Amino acid sequence: MPQHVVVVGAGVIGLSSALLLRQAGHAVTIVARDFPESFETIDPLTKINYTSPWGGAHNRWVPPHHTLPAHLIREHALSRTTYTHMQRLFQAHPHTAGITFCKGIEYMEQPGPAQTETLSTPANPNALDLPGFRLLERGEFPAGGSGGGGGGGGGGGVAWGCEYDTWCVNPMVYCAFLLRRFVNRGGRIVRRELRRPEEVFALSAAELGLAVGGDGDKKVPVVAAVVNASGTGLVPDPDMTITRGQTCLVAEDCDATVTRQNVDGTWTFCVPRGFEGGTIIGGTKELNNWDTKPSAEVRAELLRKFVETYPKILGGKKELTVVRDIVGRRPTRNGGPRIEGEVVPGAGFVMHAYGLGGRGYELSWGVAEAVVEGVETQIQGAEAKL
Ligand SMILES: Cc1cc2nc3c(=O)[nH]c(=O)nc-3n(C[C@H](O)[C@H](O)[C@H](O)COP(=O)(O)OP(=O)(O)OC[C@H]3O[C@@H](n4cnc5c(N)ncnc54)[C@H](O)[C@@H]3O)c2cc1C
Repeated sequence: MPQHVVVVGAGVIGLSSALLLRQAGHAVTIVARDFPESFETIDPLTKINYTSPWGGAHNRWVPPHHTLPAHLIREHALSRTTYTHMQRLFQAHPHTAGITFCKGIEYMEQPGPAQTETLSTPANPNALDLPGFRLLERGEFPAGGSGGGGGGGGGGGVAWGCEYDTWCVNPMVYCAFLLRRFVNRGGRIVRRELRRPEEVFALSAAELGLAVGGDGDKKVPVVAAVVNASGTGLVPDPDMTITRGQTCLVAEDCDATVTRQNVDGTWTFCVPRGFEGGTIIGGTKELNNWDTKPSAEVRAELLRKFVETYPKILGGKKELTVVRDIVGRRPTRNGGPRIEGEVVPGAGFVMHAYGLGGRGYELSWGVAEAVVEGVETQIQGAEAKL
């Protein structure tokens, strides 16, 4: 039976989960401190802990392999589910959803076993059946720009490369689209800061924007489940931290999302945002670094390395047009995201969906489906006991 579910958080995870719960027929309220707003006016300091505006955001496959952490296998399945949703949304709303489909190009200076085995077996290089997948020839590797001084091999240090069909989003265009869909389908929103997800169970019906009164209201709890899509979790979790990312938005468009893994462990990438959003050039991945200020030296280095890797982005110009520096905090969880239900004593059922690290967009619909399943299993169990 449909119930009232409250989603804490209006980042990409909260919005996707709220939308699917609403589509499944539940009454849904989003309670959050931050909601999508125009990227051009969003404040980089006060909103730094709202990660979704600062994401790229593209889908880059992370192929699973038995030598890699187990959570990556589940994440690959979540990214496949997300891909299918993105295809559907793009086909139905090509001009408004904020989604762009394009080529994803990867260059690796030190490919791992997933690249050299799973995605390179001569009989079937595309063992994972990735859409539009093709291994690149050495002659297609970039001419220069070894990220970390690794020479050798073709393409200034690149040892392996591929391309496939993938998607990118303009984050705030996309999240605003999700929010509009949610509200247009009868979803409620409440702007409020919470200390813990279970605090929701103490909110009154009026505080949650619900109609009060009627005998029926007394027979069921006002809130049947809370979804914790708060990014960093809002609960004590020793596995949670952040990974700082500095990127740079440039005005130029790019025809592909390009990722280069450098031999020194750094990454060089671009994510075209589409919808007049320019292109993100990145980017750093700095575990436990809480610095909010962008570095001019880092920006110069990111731009230089990307232009060396993919000079095509210049379109004949001498240099890229910088729009703004970006610093964001990926909500990183050791061991992968927490996607599981918990009955909090004295409060109620909380479905956790946090700790998505650098993959919130690319896993979003898979996570949302898992959230609906977790919530409905709980509701059915509670009904069976009545
Ligand atoms: C530089 C950078 C590049 C990235 N690139 C990509 C990419 O290419 N692809 C990709 O998939 N991902 C990328 N990411 C990661 C992605 O942006 C995140 O994984 C994703 O945005 C996390 O979404 P979320 O909804 O879990 O959290 P958030 O977006 O942080 O949303 C959390 C929500 O919870 C609310 N909240 C938090 N605390 C409280 C509280 N106390 N009370 C009430 N509400 C609260 C917030 O207000 C907000 O609404 C990137 C991130 C960075 C920083």
